[in-house]
Amino acid sequence: MANSKFEYVRGFEQTDALLPNTWIVVRVDGRAFTKMCANYGFEKPNDRRALDLMNVAAKAVVADLPEIAIGYGISDEYSFVFHKSCNLFERRSSKLVSTIVSTFTANYVYSWSTYFPDTPLSCPLPTFDGRAVCYPTVQNLRDYLSWRQVDCTSATRHRLFPSCWLTCQGHINNLYNTTFWALVQLGGLGNKEAEKTLAGTLSADKNEMLFSRFRINYNNEPEMFKKGSVIFRDYELVDPDSHRVAEEMDDLAEPVLQSKSQADKDKKRRSKARVVVEHLDIIKDEFWDKRPWILS
Ligand code: ATP
Ligand code: ATP
Ligand code: MG
Ligand code: MG
Ligand code: MG
Ligand code: MG
Ligand code: MG
Repeated sequence: MANSKFEYVRGFEQTDALLPNTWIVVRVDGRAFTKMCANYGFEKPNDRRALDLMNVAAKAVVADLPEIAIGYGISDEYSFVFHKSCNLFERRSSKLVSTIVSTFTANYVYSWSTYFPDTPLSCPLPTFDGRAVCYPTVQNLRDYLSWRQVDCTSATRHRLFPSCWLTCQGHINNLYNTTFWALVQLGGLGNKEAEKTLAGTLSADKNEMLFSRFRINYNNEPEMFKKGSVIFRDYELVDPDSHRVAEEMDDLAEPVLQSKSQADKDKKRRSKARVVVEHLDIIKDEFWDKRPWILS
């Protein structure tokens, strides 16, 4: 079909290659999951089955694309990080995003019945949107991941940010949700009343409210709810005291792209490694110091 008179239309395609030598993050997010929760009867605030299903779909994505360095998920979203040297699809944004979104969605739908055996899928079917963002430095990338994890845990929020920041940032975190739903489900309050009760409260107030009114100790809530889920390839843990790799990482000294044979070898090694899902703090250095291969 080469050289037909129609072929000129290819020239209308726009290049969308992402900036070289930057960490690519593709984030998928469930479309209208607030409604999905109601339609399919998700438990509030945290339906374990729905989170397990997100994790199984994300694990399939990471296993399918060895170029992914790490994934991190909370609620109805998952972020996938490509190494800055990655050249998959010539770094074309639409290819990367659409491949991840459809691989994720296909696996989510495929595994649905395992996690919701009594709730068959019907319309609306679960769908996801996606976007790609480039981060130039490891610090920017870690800040991105910390930003997502802070949305999940609010104890960390306290440590990192002044309280004025807390009140400006809305209430998209698990401690807030846990207290809100305790007030509604166990305390018999209406949604509006519960919202009013929580207005202006700090983490300590919410912890106190949970314990004094409902005997719930927030510390005993499952790690997956408090910390979200991190997916990575599991090699041997490194003793952070003997290998200060993270500190020695010099962004400028690294080549823009790996040599072909090096990249192939690396890919093979990655495809063979065990992909694991854990619920860990990824804000502190410890996680990264113990697993220097993730960003190396
Ligand atoms: P959009 O299409 O703009 O993303 P949305 O309704 O999906 O709209 P989000 O900001 O993504 O909006 O919020 C996701 C919603 O799904 C939140 O209300 C969140 O509490 C809920 N949700 C996601 N996962 C779970 C879960 N495992 N258990 C209970 N609720 C969940
Ligand atoms: P890429 O991931 O780059 O798209 P690809 O293998 O999918 O790789 P395409 O250019 O999209 O490459 O080609 C699709 C292939 O699938 C072709 O070989 C085409 O003949 C085959 N194919 C698609 N649909 C059918 C079909 N209905 N019956 C038989 N073969 C098909
Ligand atoms: Mg969205
Ligand atoms: Mg959503
Ligand atoms: Mg969301
Ligand atoms: Mg084709
Ligand atoms: Mg094809």
